[in-house]
Amino acid sequence: MKLGIITSGGDAPGMNAAIVAAARYARSRGIEMFGYVGGYRGMIEHKTVDLAKTSFRGALGRGGTLLYTDRCEEFLLREYRLQAYDNLRSDGVEGLVAVGGDGTFRGARDFFADTGLPIACVPATIDNDLGYTEFTIGFDTALNNVVNAVEAIKDTAESHGKVSFVEVMGRKCGNIALHSGVASGADFILVPERPFDFEELSKKAVEKLEAGHHSIIFIVAEGVGKVSEMSVRFKELTGITPRETSLGFIQRGGNPTYADRMLGVRMGATAVDLLAGGCGAVAVGVRGGEIFDTDLAGALGIPSDIDQTLYDLAPGIV
Ligand code: ADP
Repeated sequence: MKLGIITSGGDAPGMNAAIVAAARYARSRGIEMFGYVGGYRGMIEHKTVDLAKTSFRGALGRGGTLLYTDRCEEFLLREYRLQAYDNLRSDGVEGLVAVGGDGTFRGARDFFADTGLPIACVPATIDNDLGYTEFTIGFDTALNNVVNAVEAIKDTAESHGKVSFVEVMGRKCGNIALHSGVASGADFILVPERPFDFEELSKKAVEKLEAGHHSIIFIVAEGVGKVSEMSVRFKELTGITPRETSLGFIQRGGNPTYADRMLGVRMGATAVDLLAGGCGAVAVGVRGGEIFDTDLAGALGIPSDIDQTLYDLAPGIV
């Protein structure tokens, strides 16, 4: 048997663990494995790496992805998906492991609908915005990056008695903001999934300062808006000039944590196992510490939401 593997969309720490585990597991079962370079674009442009001949020394624990990743508009068009399929067939590939986020999953769903080539999708995105799975690969590492950065900001904010707005990633999803905000003891957490009254929160921030708090931290999910604009509004409302920081790509970089390595390893190997067992189009997920698989189209139908239990607890915690 021969399988293909890609990493696609936004990179996430732990993607390499999934690639290495999938390739090693395949090798142990006598399955050949080709990597396609740069996600769907590599499939269309026929750029391959024979993973049987690739050394993975040190790769499992490195951030980013050794197969590179890309966004590929062409893959939205059926003619290019069919071109990609011709390339995979000419390589003798009988199934594909697709590692990425919701866009990658949608591409995989369409690819399967067009071609019937079995596909096992592995969720890897720092945003943790796939509703069917409790965690995605890369989320834990991003959280650690954010928490460390917020603590550094807090040290200086505390010394100067400042209000700080910190913008974190997540696209339309507030999970990074919610989890990092709780873990770093932020004062206010703003997420796109739940409405809030900015004027009211600004008033509360001033009350906290008057009650003796030396610094105030707002964690703002990027899906809520720009901290630069929020800072201006805050000054208009309170007369206080806040500091603003947009954490940007440092959130996505660095070596994956133990949790993300393990998730990558377990999901990568599971994806190969599913393809070897004759699956159709499936998504691999984790819930309550257990790895599971589910129908890909069904998985995409489950909307993403923030962790409701944590959100309800957050005002008491922070
Ligand atoms: P992520 O996988 O991290 O969510 P993107 O949303 O950029 O990243 O999606 C990655 C790639 O998946 C896109 O560049 C495109 O090639 C493919 N893709 C996304 N949505 C679709 C779709 N509806 N149909 C086909 N391919 C898609």
